[in-house]
Amino acid sequence: MADADPRLATTDTAEMRRVFDLQHDASRRYPPADFKLRLDRLSRLGALVKANGDRFADAISSDFGTRARIETELMELVPTLGAVRHAKKNLAKWMKPERRHVGINFQPGKAWVRHEPLGVVGIISPWNYPLQLAFSPAIDAIAAGNRVLLKPSELTPAFAELLKELVADSFDESELAVVTGGVEVGRAFSSLPFDHLLFTGSTAVGRLVYKAAAENLVPVTLELGGKSPAIVCDDYPLPKAARSIAFGKFLNAGQTCIAPDYVLVPEGKVQAMAEALLAEVKNSYPTIAGNADYSGVISERHRQRLLEAIEVARKVGSTVLQHGEAKAVAAGKVPPTVVLNAPEETILASEEIFGPVLPIVAYKSLDEAIAFVNGRDRPLALYCFTKDEAREQAVLNRTLSGGVTLNGTLLHIAQESLPFGGVGASGIGAYHGQEGFKRFSHARGVHKVGAWNAFEKLGPPWGNLARKVAKAMLKRG
Ligand code: NAD
Repeated sequence: MADADPRLATTDTAEMRRVFDLQHDASRRYPPADFKLRLDRLSRLGALVKANGDRFADAISSDFGTRARIETELMELVPTLGAVRHAKKNLAKWMKPERRHVGINFQPGKAWVRHEPLGVVGIISPWNYPLQLAFSPAIDAIAAGNRVLLKPSELTPAFAELLKELVADSFDESELAVVTGGVEVGRAFSSLPFDHLLFTGSTAVGRLVYKAAAENLVPVTLELGGKSPAIVCDDYPLPKAARSIAFGKFLNAGQTCIAPDYVLVPEGKVQAMAEALLAEVKNSYPTIAGNADYSGVISERHRQRLLEAIEVARKVGSTVLQHGEAKAVAAGKVPPTVVLNAPEETILASEEIFGPVLPIVAYKSLDEAIAFVNGRDRPLALYCFTKDEAREQAVLNRTLSGGVTLNGTLLHIAQESLPFGGVGASGIGAYHGQEGFKRFSHARGVHKVGAWNAFEKLGPPWGNLARKVAKAMLKRG
């Protein structure tokens, strides 16, 4: 659909293939990037982000209608620069071959693992945090010594054009390049025979990308979405939980992959939680319509989907509580919304919401809350609010999600030392930091035979010595 967006130049298929071939050829023809070159590429990427923060923030804000500069700074520029710093600081350690154990029968040989660049890594990124979700995997792939081809989302055309221009100014196209366009370009991109393809986006498109990659046996990392729960336990102060949940949910108007999608609350506390959430919203965003701190929704199509989902919930008898509604809608936004009793079949209860609408679900016991989470696809993130070690352990031990923040929201993504990725329907594989470096490397096992090769000395022809050795080894189990 957005291939036709006049603000976005569409890279034609032949041009995309030319750049891919150039990178592919270079990755086979020349020795892999050494430590110095990787550092230089990382520094150039960091310098590009640092020097153009304002331009990026303006472009992203224009793509969203409104997005606060400070949100772009804190959620995109700061983590991207942090990832560059972390990679540069640890790269020498990550690149070091790892010595491995050699069994007695293979002595005096040696064994080690080399972390080799894969070659050319493709990255398809979404619109919600367009800079961070394009550059964060690119940083890991560059640290691992790869060449990178990037395709940003067509829904952030101003950002995508700027990214293409700035990357071309700082990098040779054989090192890092950007192609632009919509679904058609995305389809052609995912059919290229990359050495690894990382896709961040919806589960539905993730399936298509996985299929296209399988045709070429291209290994994938799929960073998808899903319904991430926040479980508030009985012992935890409600206003404190509400503060964290409102923060994580209404930032970027709910268009955050790891935003809490719904809240599970002990049954007697639903009303109090709704009131506490609205109080937090009013505190954080006193007005909505003209408030530059409260983001717009990325497109009219996405906004209508959200407004309709709220209407459907209202029609089937859910309680809908909003702040600043009429004016916000007139101003092209979706107001912060809390919904009670959304039935299972409604969009709000069954699909990832990806907007500023927060259903509250009542539970009778923690077992019931855990069963509710486990009755759905594995979520990308899970939040649990409790001060009680036993409850914390029960939730951690009996659920599974991509990542977890305890007594807060979103913050696990900001820890450079933690892997980030989904599980089951929320994704395949993780990146960030050392896990990212490994994700885009091939762990190549090397065995070097020692001064003599005991194995070959045994035969053939197989004689008594070989039989005795086999017997002794079998006995060891
Ligand atoms: P999307 O799946 O619609 O699009 C993502 C990218 O895929 C875009 O660049 C798009 O052009 C491209 N694309 C579309 N159709 C394609 C096709 N058939 N083949 C190949 N590429 C194609 O996702 P979106 O709307 O941009 O992002 C929202 C979704 O992304 C949400 O579900 C959210 O949870 C998820 N998300 C996940 C993470 C994460 O880290 N796990 C981060 C951000 C967003």
